[in-house]
Amino acid sequence: MAGVKSEALFKNSMEIMPGGVNSPVRAFRAVNQNPVFIEKAKGSKIYDVDGNEYIDYVCSWGPGILGHARERVIDAVKEACSKGLTFGAPTEKEYILACLIQELMPSMEMLRLVNSGTEAVMSAIRAARGYTGRDKILKFAGCYHGHSDGLLVKAGSGALTQSVPDSLGVPAGYTENTLVAEYNNTTSVKELFEKYGSSIAAVITEPVAANMGVVPPAAGFLEELRQITKEYNSLLIFDEVITGFRLAKGGAQEYFGIKPDITVLGKIAGGGMPLAVYGGRKEIMEVVAPLGSVYQAGTLSGNPVATTAGIETLRILKENPGIYKEIEKKTAKLKTAAEKAFGSNVCVNQAGSLMSIFFTEKKVTDYTSAVSSDTLKYAKYFGLMLENGIYTAPSQFEAMFISDAHTDGDIEKTCDIIKQAAELF
Ligand SMILES: *Cc1c(COP(=O)(O)O)cnc(C)c1O
Repeated sequence: MAGVKSEALFKNSMEIMPGGVNSPVRAFRAVNQNPVFIEKAKGSKIYDVDGNEYIDYVCSWGPGILGHARERVIDAVKEACSKGLTFGAPTEKEYILACLIQELMPSMEMLRLVNSGTEAVMSAIRAARGYTGRDKILKFAGCYHGHSDGLLVKAGSGALTQSVPDSLGVPAGYTENTLVAEYNNTTSVKELFEKYGSSIAAVITEPVAANMGVVPPAAGFLEELRQITKEYNSLLIFDEVITGFRLAKGGAQEYFGIKPDITVLGKIAGGGMPLAVYGGRKEIMEVVAPLGSVYQAGTLSGNPVATTAGIETLRILKENPGIYKEIEKKTAKLKTAAEKAFGSNVCVNQAGSLMSIFFTEKKVTDYTSAVSSDTLKYAKYFGLMLENGIYTAPSQFEAMFISDAHTDGDIEKTCDIIKQAAELF
């Protein structure tokens, strides 16, 4: 329950911003509550304006893999700020970050920095179309790739939560080149390729779907996508905005051992600042301006403060590869606790440090099974967790993020509260 100050801020914000927020999920509508307004965060904890402390499992939707306000990152950012916030000219920081990303993800032979995941995906698709000379894109139901027009089809996440898979304001012509297949179902992919194969520029997927809740790829699914796209001279785009630097230091492509043609990064890549990346095989990226004729630009792209946060975050991850096993282990503990507490009433999916508790008795493997969840039960669960100091995703269809800053104590406390919550169902 939101406190007095949060309620007042929300009421005022509603007058001036749509729904009182700057991104829909923050409004808590999917869990039938008013949002808590955040004042600050440190490590695994987040604090609202009414002075309540929560163990945070949202982690700003992923960037907070090291926990909040990690000193080394903050110090570097402060120093960068003192040298000026933006120049609109090239800097060494951009080069350093690009090299670091390439070292961790060698498939990104050439890359470009942009400002948001939405922008990165939109640009990656433009490059794929420019390179192949084809117009069609194949995406999966329930996968979210940002809010650009052509991709707001069966888009998961916020769109799914609001039950408007398609947005008003998107002309039909903008999505006519978007084909939709079922996640974890290669037959649905093959059928579309048999029909449209020679005009499909690229298949775009989240290697682990995390915007319809967490849905890991079935064994062989990503391999088959790699094979089919190769067969039709189509490109494979991994949207690793969530999985990049989270599943492993080299992302899902390292974790599953599959090399996409193009990769999109965001969230962790900017260490909490607005920064995203697209890149891939050199011959593809060479179509991008000013080298090639695919236009893409950005006033604040490669911003010196954002690149600094990204560099420091990636350096810490690179120097401490043990983090990944640790956060996966912590997540497994939460999974076990949730399964024990709720039994067969829920399906708990985990991939690395990503997790979702679906309130359904079905196995969740795709969009259809994900939406079989009882969102009212999820809302009740969310409310019980929040009341007890656990800040978890305010929607059934968003992931839970576990960070390096979560202590064993945090995890144990959370397991206990999950158990208490389950007793009230
Ligand atoms: C968050 C997200 C995006 C969009 O990134 P923004 O920075 O919010 O524009 C794209 N793809 C995936 C998989 C995401 O999770």
